[in-house]
Amino acid sequence: MTATRVLVLNSGSSSVKYQLLDMSDSGRLAVGLVERIGEQTSRLKHTPVATGGESREWTGPIADHDAALKAVAEELAKDGLGLDSPELAAIGHRVVHGGQSFTRPTVVDDAVLAEIERLIPVAPLHNPANLTGIRTAQALRPDLPQVAVFDTAFHTTMPEAAARYAIDVETADAHRIRRYGFHGTSHAYVSRATAKLLGKTPEEVNVIVLHLGNGASASAVRGGRCVDTSMGLTPLEGLVMGTRSGDLDPAVIFHLARVGEMSIDEIDTLLNKKSGLIGLCGDNDMREIRRRIDEGDAQAKLAFEIYIHRLRKYIGAYYAVLGRVDAVAFTAGVGENAAEVRAAAVADLESLGLAVDGGLNAVRGDEPRLISPPDARVAVAVVPTDEELEIAAQTYALVGRH
Ligand code: ADP
Repeated sequence: MTATRVLVLNSGSSSVKYQLLDMSDSGRLAVGLVERIGEQTSRLKHTPVATGGESREWTGPIADHDAALKAVAEELAKDGLGLDSPELAAIGHRVVHGGQSFTRPTVVDDAVLAEIERLIPVAPLHNPANLTGIRTAQALRPDLPQVAVFDTAFHTTMPEAAARYAIDVETADAHRIRRYGFHGTSHAYVSRATAKLLGKTPEEVNVIVLHLGNGASASAVRGGRCVDTSMGLTPLEGLVMGTRSGDLDPAVIFHLARVGEMSIDEIDTLLNKKSGLIGLCGDNDMREIRRRIDEGDAQAKLAFEIYIHRLRKYIGAYYAVLGRVDAVAFTAGVGENAAEVRAAAVADLESLGLAVDGGLNAVRGDEPRLISPPDARVAVAVVPTDEELEIAAQTYALVGRH
């Protein structure tokens, strides 16, 4: 029997999201998540996609990631998809920070684990949870290849001019301070899918990818290689996001510390959790913001305008970085669904060859699609992202070669 299944795990500090895919047809067999791990009210939700069965939910204490993964394995086994199956080829793990070390997906061994651990100072929230997920999965199936797929990997092709901050080089190097970028799996997937939509190879096209979810980032992709991206050392830099400020004068931090008498941790929380759309208007869901704007809410309108202003600045910046742009692709929760955001992002940019067709932009759907007028110089596209499929595909490609 050929092993064609890949389990994709996205382990957070208190959650595990998972998908089981069959790479013979890229089909999903099961999806689910465990959240609030370590609390009394942990919750598991499992959807057996392959059998078309109802989702199953369970609430109760799940002590740690080990218990969470065992619970997931039990749910999968109920559908005949147990992790002991010989059809399981590998487990693919999303790992947030691969630093400069990991430029591609990597089969996990002790040296890889040690390197992911070494990177914890630059990803204190994410890498420990990702490591726990890998170690737990290893314990469950020690014989199976575990593959780490890094959020940062796609961005390691950025030239030094884009990757370096203009600060003292020795200090930067001593603390590994540089622009790493995130959402790389999505930017890779969407830039390739956009080329395909245009009937071209990735090498033939230059694409600006706008990943607009709760976290948001833009990237400039030349011929399939990332040459710039908006997130930096951490996911805080760049666009206005659901709860993150994105770009700001770093002196705001000194000012808050000296004049506002806030601690570093308080400022960290302010900028990562209480800023962006939620800080500006109290809501971080674009649907709610649009609803409030329709009711004449001035605060929601200003938040939207600030969000769009920043987005347009990045489109302009990446236009200049790339020189020639073949397509602008919108993806993730906001990018895929919020037609008003897409229209506003490229409004009055006909001189750059950018425009959306109102009718096409209003169409909803799950497939990649063009929303620019047929004669537009630059294609504007909506390209739904699929990070789990991309992680599974990269995992399977790697394991298949071994
Ligand atoms: P993440 O993976 O970063 O949590 P998603 O890519 O799932 O985020 O995007 C979530 C966001 O997408 C929500 O916060 C909301 O603002 C936006 N969103 C989802 N559906 C819609 C919709 N129908 N219209 C407008 N915005 C939407």
